[in-house]
Amino acid sequence: MYCTGCDYQLEGLTTGTCPECRKRFDPADSGTFMPFPGCGWRKRQFGWFALVLILLALEVVHAVRTYADSTLFLLVVTGSIGCLSMLTGILLRRSRPDLRISMLMTMPALAVVALITSLAIHMYMSLGGWPKTIGTGGFSRSLEIHADLAMFGFTILLLSNLLAWAMLLGFGCTRRSQQWIYHLGIFTMSSCICIGLLPFAPDQFVSWWWD
Ligand SMILES: [Zn+2]
Repeated sequence: MYCTGCDYQLEGLTTGTCPECRKRFDPADSGTFMPFPGCGWRKRQFGWFALVLILLALEVVHAVRTYADSTLFLLVVTGSIGCLSMLTGILLRRSRPDLRISMLMTMPALAVVALITSLAIHMYMSLGGWPKTIGTGGFSRSLEIHADLAMFGFTILLLSNLLAWAMLLGFGCTRRSQQWIYHLGIFTMSSCICIGLLPFAPDQFVSWWWD
């Protein structure tokens, strides 16, 4: 008998409340506890995975409708490695993943989104509109640095996602390193979802970005 919230062993307890996470259970009602450890968190992880898949599907549909071919290609590359790592990661893990590490793994992708979004705002305000030409002609020094930083962050994110294929094979080798496949999945999946946001930006910015 295990807690559905935190996997705590509830055998022999009569209080009806998990001492670890305070979730209520009833020893007479099999729906309020789990027969084996790991059922609860794994189920929730699959729930999160399903939500991420829905987001990915929406982004793919939007990329197809707006003819965002470059984004679509990146979505397929990062999405396939992300789905594979997350799914095998959830199945291979023996314990509940640490939420703090998972959140840390989404930081690189969120940082790149913040860089690109702030660049778009900076550009629009500094130029009084969207750039008429490709490149950084007519940009102020600070805008030029901002654009370089955003491009650099985006490139590093893409390169590390391509490396993820090699890391997935490497992590699969030992039982101990297999625990990291889940976190690799969080990293690649968050990168994928963030890259898929690009076609939602104004058209003029998107065409400047890819040129
Ligand atoms: Zn609990």
